[in-house]
Amino acid sequence: MMQCQYKHLINGQWESSETLGANINPSDLDDLVGNYAQGDQQQTINAIEAAKTAFQSWSCSPIQQRFDMLDAVGSEILARKDELAKLLAREEGKALSDALGEVIRAGQIFKFFAGECVRQTGDKLASTRQGMEVEVTREPVGVVGLITPWNFPIAIPAWKIAPALAYGNTVVFKPAELVPASAWALADIIHRAGAPAGVFNLVLGKGSIVGETLVNHLDVAAISFTGSEGTGRNIASKVVARMGKVQLEMGGKNPLVVLDDADLEVAAEVAVNGAFYATGQRCTASSRFIVTKGIHDRFVAAVVNKMGKLEVGHALDTNTKIGPVVDKKQLDNVCQYIRVGKDEGAKLAFGGEILQRKTKGFFLQPTLFTQANSSMRIAKEEIFGPVACVIKVADYEEALAVANDTVFGLSSGIVTTSLKYANHFKRHAHSGMVMVNAPTAGVDYHVPFGGRNGSSYGSREQGRYAAEFYTTVKTVYIAS
Ligand code: NAD
Repeated sequence: MMQCQYKHLINGQWESSETLGANINPSDLDDLVGNYAQGDQQQTINAIEAAKTAFQSWSCSPIQQRFDMLDAVGSEILARKDELAKLLAREEGKALSDALGEVIRAGQIFKFFAGECVRQTGDKLASTRQGMEVEVTREPVGVVGLITPWNFPIAIPAWKIAPALAYGNTVVFKPAELVPASAWALADIIHRAGAPAGVFNLVLGKGSIVGETLVNHLDVAAISFTGSEGTGRNIASKVVARMGKVQLEMGGKNPLVVLDDADLEVAAEVAVNGAFYATGQRCTASSRFIVTKGIHDRFVAAVVNKMGKLEVGHALDTNTKIGPVVDKKQLDNVCQYIRVGKDEGAKLAFGGEILQRKTKGFFLQPTLFTQANSSMRIAKEEIFGPVACVIKVADYEEALAVANDTVFGLSSGIVTTSLKYANHFKRHAHSGMVMVNAPTAGVDYHVPFGGRNGSSYGSREQGRYAAEFYTTVKTVYIAS
């Protein structure tokens, strides 16, 4: 007998698969969130073909129709925020308060891009030639394939789907295998908000099957991907080889510089929030604290003191500040890095232990290493868990050099009371986002998000900058 399953949305119909994937709660391994269909190549192709057909009318649809649909999606997400936050916390392990923040953000993103539907503009220019006028307009690119990671199960899909639809594209969405429940709930909302058949398609399943089919298909005009650097590089090489458009948001090794003149309480709070909230599973998480020698010991003591008060536990427990690591593979990976840190000679200042709780889950103490340096793997490679290291430096100049000594460049932060150093850092930090006296993680939804170097490739996501990726420019000459 076929088990109860959550299905794909293809061409406006809910469609099942022979193969199912179990979605397990990382806070309680006995809790099955649900069984989710695992798509095959043919189902993915069917979704792409449906999106291609639907593009003909959606790309020319009235902007009011798009506004109404995206606005309705945003309204429903916000109205159901507590229920959706519980689902998200249950499948991903993010503490309920953080999950709620993420769901609200997803609703706000849909509302923002509803507004963008009716704010689309072009340019009308004088020509250099007599009797000629020039217009520059933006048009949708076509079918877009959206591939997302597990760590923001609703916000990242929202910040790709909403602009894609707002600018008149049609979508095939492939969420991460670990978090299909939030993706399915979002698809259900978009479907009921009136997306015409084929305009928005959800295909659940593996990157190596559903993802690869999207990446290689000539009818997918653009791929927007968020995930790890290795997968991103692989995807980009394939999409570029077939002259498709591609946008990648990838990893980080985000530095937080703390100067001698910093307010100690601000520095410790910013550091703990940036590094350990959401279990450190944020691409913008601070993983390197670069601290000048005059404040170093007091900073470490203050951070360790705060870390000791962070409640690690079941994501749905309202006392929990730090939920579990997302799955066994990720837990093993993070624990391996903790061993590497010890072997490399860094000093374990706090944490590093797996924790037992009432339910079976992947609970890990937030972990801090001191006496690290830039040549250590724990200071170079993205760990993507609740682990940070402290690098002691002589002065601001050395701090800046160490902060920029990375292959990544997503977010960077400085804690200082000096306007001079804050201004210098803003200009000279090699990252797409800079935070002054604020955690490296935690951003607004209406402004561009993205990084440099190994962290990002292609144009920025979010805010009105998203138009760069989801539209193509047309220049029209009109002779009178
Ligand atoms: P991942 O690269 O393993 O997977 C991301 C997505 O790609 C998943 O949906 C997966 O199924 C799919 N995929 C895997 N192989 C594929 C292939 N061959 N072809 C097409 N698709 C394929 O990443 P993850 O483990 O889900 O997420 C963690 C990573 O995401 C971290 O490195 C983190 O830094 C990064 N991340 C970056 C940002 C950002 O905006 N910069 C935001 C969140 C997460």
